[in-house]
Amino acid sequence: MSLIIIGSVAFDAIETPFGKTDKIVGGAATYASLAASYFYKKVKIVGVVGDDFHKKDIDTFTEHGIDTEGLQIKAGEKSFFWSGKYHNDMNSRDTLITELNVLGDFDPIIPESYQDCEYLMLGNLSPQVQQTVIKRLKNKPKLIILDTMNFWMDIALDDLLETIKLIDVLTINDEEARQLSGEYSLVKAAKKILAMGPKYLIIKKGEHGALLFNEDKVFSTPALPLADVFDPTGAGDTFAGGFIGYMAKAGTINFETMKNAIVYGSALASFCVEKFGTEKIVNLTEKEVADRIQEFVNLSAFTLTEA
Ligand code: AMP
Repeated sequence: MSLIIIGSVAFDAIETPFGKTDKIVGGAATYASLAASYFYKKVKIVGVVGDDFHKKDIDTFTEHGIDTEGLQIKAGEKSFFWSGKYHNDMNSRDTLITELNVLGDFDPIIPESYQDCEYLMLGNLSPQVQQTVIKRLKNKPKLIILDTMNFWMDIALDDLLETIKLIDVLTINDEEARQLSGEYSLVKAAKKILAMGPKYLIIKKGEHGALLFNEDKVFSTPALPLADVFDPTGAGDTFAGGFIGYMAKAGTINFETMKNAIVYGSALASFCVEKFGTEKIVNLTEKEVADRIQEFVNLSAFTLTEA
């Protein structure tokens, strides 16, 4: 039994109103696997990097118990590079550079030792590659979650529509839900997107939390009001990684378990934004995580009292 996470493993250069970073380690699979490792011990990563990626960066995965046998290292090639700049409100950003490099012709290899996969997270990558991974697994996983972004809706919409027919949970942000459905109302958007194939839909709304949809049901979780948000990069991937890490640990797949899972995902994401890149989520203690989850519970718990 294991949880496989596939996605970009990257270098990012980030600019926010609080500062600027040179190339730091990022990527969807990086954030997601680190987050999942806090809840589930058999996390395995599938991805590709160039030989500009250092051994110490790969050691970070190993130190978190993440299996890197499926992480290919391409000699003489460069890792995926992404650069983004956040606006003053930190809710929106512009992508400045996307250099696919090794991701351009990525052919995901699923090692034999990964064929025990029961939980699969298809992190942000080309939908065609995401689909290839599903096809290369000999057994259908118990739960497949797919995360994507507007970039792929713009350049590979048909592939994306085909791939989301094969999955259980789709996670996207509010703008992407609007783009995918053509509906402004998130309730109407959810209805249309659920009709495209996924059984569950999670709409991430940044500092406004997240919504979970399934059939006619909806559940909402807030985001933690934080005094300092330094860098929202990777929050979505961290959320999704925390979500599937919790699901894998829980072992039951239903709406009630997913309510917990989106709170766990939101708690991990709240750490992610407190520092640049992966700085905060590489060094959390179990107590910090447990306390943060309790803060989420306290945030919206109340006793209904007649006036
Ligand atoms: P998020 O802030 O959750 O949207 O994720 C940001 C991460 O996604 C960064 O670390 C980037 O390296 C990665 N990323 C950005 N664009 C892409 C893309 N087109 N494909 C795959 N990963 C990407």
